[in-house]
Amino acid sequence: MSSSEASPELQVQPAVVVGTGGGASGGASGGDAANDTIFGRILRGEIPCDAVYADEFCLAFRDVNPQAPVHVLVIPREAIVNLADAGSQHRELLGHLLLVAAKVARQEGLSGWRTVINSGAEAGQTVFHLHVHVIGGRPLAWPPG
Ligand code: AMP
Repeated sequence: MSSSEASPELQVQPAVVVGTGGGASGGASGGDAANDTIFGRILRGEIPCDAVYADEFCLAFRDVNPQAPVHVLVIPREAIVNLADAGSQHRELLGHLLLVAAKVARQEGLSGWRTVINSGAEAGQTVFHLHVHVIGGRPLAWPPG
């Protein structure tokens, strides 16, 4: 796949559940669990989102509770719980998500931005479908809380 060549078609397509992970966590329930999240419902078109980018592999939409002037979430159509659920079969998809994050940041006019992927409740993950936060538009402190 080539992210830079992916056309930003904004229609929301059905989620593609290809596998159930198989990464470090074992992932036996990964796909189904992730598909049942609110992001799975967004991917299936059951609830609306403010989409800013879409292609056959992922969807990007504005966070409903933005932490900065720009706060976009990039999610794979494949139901992966988080990075602990990802395996080597997701190598290309994970790279694609990061390239789309950068594409969205540029599209939003950002010259600097932060990308965040929370993996696990302990790290602050609240929606158990892998997502990349793209945050910018204000000065961002480090380290994060
Ligand atoms: P995390 O805490 O890393 O799992 O991030 C989940 C993010 O999803 C939070 O920033 C929420 O504000 C956001 N969120 C939850 N529901 C929705 C929704 N329906 N549309 C857009 N963003 C959402």
